[in-house]
Amino acid sequence: MGEAQVSLEHLFRVFTKPEHKDSKLAQIEQHLSDNILDFLSQHVVTKKTSLEEIEKDFSDSKVPESPEFVSTHAESLLDKLVAHSVNTYSPTFIGHMTSALPYFHLPLSKLMVGLNQNLVKIETSKAFTPLERQVLGMMHNLVYDQPQGFYDNHLHSAAHSLGAFCSGGTIANITALWVARNKLLGPQKGFSGVAKAGLAAAYRHYGINNLGVMCSKRGHYSLSKAVDVLGLGREQLLTVPAPKQTLDPAKALRIGKRYQEEGNKLLAIVGVGGTTETGHVDPLDELADVAEELGCWFHVDAAWGGATLFSARYRDRLKGIERADSVTIDAHKQMYVPMGAGMALFKDPQNANAVRHHAQYILRAGSKDLGATTLEGSRNGMAMMVYSALHIFGRKGYELLIDRSIDKAKDFAQMIDKAQDFELTTTPILSLLTYRVCPAEVQEKLKHVNAKTRNAINEKIDALVVAVQKQQREAGKSFVSRTRLEAPDYPSQCITVFRVVLANPLTSHNDLAAILAEQHLIAKETQAWKELMDFVRETETVAS
Ligand SMILES: *Cc1c(COP(=O)(O)O)cnc(C)c1O
Repeated sequence: MGEAQVSLEHLFRVFTKPEHKDSKLAQIEQHLSDNILDFLSQHVVTKKTSLEEIEKDFSDSKVPESPEFVSTHAESLLDKLVAHSVNTYSPTFIGHMTSALPYFHLPLSKLMVGLNQNLVKIETSKAFTPLERQVLGMMHNLVYDQPQGFYDNHLHSAAHSLGAFCSGGTIANITALWVARNKLLGPQKGFSGVAKAGLAAAYRHYGINNLGVMCSKRGHYSLSKAVDVLGLGREQLLTVPAPKQTLDPAKALRIGKRYQEEGNKLLAIVGVGGTTETGHVDPLDELADVAEELGCWFHVDAAWGGATLFSARYRDRLKGIERADSVTIDAHKQMYVPMGAGMALFKDPQNANAVRHHAQYILRAGSKDLGATTLEGSRNGMAMMVYSALHIFGRKGYELLIDRSIDKAKDFAQMIDKAQDFELTTTPILSLLTYRVCPAEVQEKLKHVNAKTRNAINEKIDALVVAVQKQQREAGKSFVSRTRLEAPDYPSQCITVFRVVLANPLTSHNDLAAILAEQHLIAKETQAWKELMDFVRETETVAS
């Protein structure tokens, strides 16, 4: 069914011509351009189908023998894939950092895909290379705000780079720490440097036991991948407990000093500019001091929060970021660019030379090929989407979006505070917050019990939160995620909480009220609620 003939003629047609005007593909295209929200509401519903059920549609491990007509194939995609995708555009999908995209990215992405430029070298990208360098320059400027002359000298210089464009925050974090590692263990008299000689030789030459990276417990798991990939080992990621969600500078200094006294070297301190779980920002300015005192690299992971710099009102929350040696920003998060757009920015445009690579047929010495200092090889023209978004929104447009998200998070926090059977667990610093469902009676009880009972009650509440989160997701009207963390009110115990990311500009106050009301309704019907109440009524209150 829908099989095309295997002929070169047919394949040439597939390469060169669109199918006829009324083909399924053309219909999809038209429908998408007419109204993406409408398209999504018709095609993207989180149907109750289980993942196991869906796997049956993707179970054949053989490459199909014969070509299929494009239209037939498009139809099957709608049916098997699109219908079971997640509607990240929904204003009530507020559980993750992936949300709605502005419409203009759809047609513009066709330009990017159609041109199929490869940014690894100028021979396959030409104007895209200076464009990408300009984007990195604009983002560098946003973070470091250097004088005009600095950008005149470095923006298009073959011997410098203001940053590395990559597919996301993970690669950006790895790139930043890769540069830091190669700089710290660089060439010296009698040693060719870690990049050439390898880690073992570098440790011998520099007399190092281990090389470590420090962050708080709330640091993103990509840092753990980074120390693994860079050969440092996951045990050398020093994760500092953070009951207040942030890295305590005094603790960081103490732990760093002890680590160094044990014959190790500290490669970097990583401050987070907006943690993934709660949106908290580490005290960047003070951590820059600590890094200075310990003599190590200072990296700021602002994959999520970096875009806050667009806002005059809120950019202060990232104060100290301008002192970082390197900064990670994801454009595919709060800059509303399609996925696959991350950046590592370097304060000193010389630093990326620590990872510069040359090859004869490509990336010749002295060329402006971007591939010489990026971890990835072939890369698409995604920088164009960032370039366009920067122009179409402008700094002021982004400012409005960021301000709106943070204000909305504050508004939601107030709603939660007022709702009697809910408890706010972390207040929003940026546009993230966490909370949990907790009957008023239980909240009261928690104030008057000993630690052991409190822990036991909290475990019952955890079960309730999990049950509500799952049922709400399955009902398919809205989505809130959940995580486990040490909350300020309940130290030395991890509790389960709802996690909300307010990124979609179309999410309204009423949407949020409806989500809360739905959770309340679900909660009261669960077995977990009953068990919690029974348990609490049986527990003794201690005199406080
Ligand atoms: C999202 C995120 C990352 C990882 O970025 P990807 O683009 O998913 O690779 C790293 N750090 C923080 C703080 C993040 O929010």
